[in-house]
Amino acid sequence: MMKCPKCLSELVPSTLEGYQTLSEHVCHPNDESPLRYTYVCPNGCHDGFYGMWGSLYGSFGSKPELWYAVNSFNWNVENWDLWEKVYKFDKIMEKFKDFILRMETD
Ligand SMILES: [Zn+2]
Repeated sequence: MMKCPKCLSELVPSTLEGYQTLSEHVCHPNDESPLRYTYVCPNGCHDGFYGMWGSLYGSFGSKPELWYAVNSFNWNVENWDLWEKVYKFDKIMEKFKDFILRMETD
């Protein structure tokens, strides 16, 4: 169940629209966009719609926290990426700490 990232209401099905995923747009930019399901926030938190995988379409100038629907595929990928970055940052800081300690003891 996908939720609006702003008000956390469950998104509701809307009209069929032609749209591409980001990877489709990169790999086949000239292909016709297939008609697909869309979802919108019942409280009208944004102008556009959410695609089947949770990306926000057609809502320009949105803040980053509105780019993906909560619990959607894209939201999960985004969070996974974020956690990986945090993890890598921790590893880098660990090495840096070792480096500092070595400098101090030498
Ligand atoms: Zn909302």
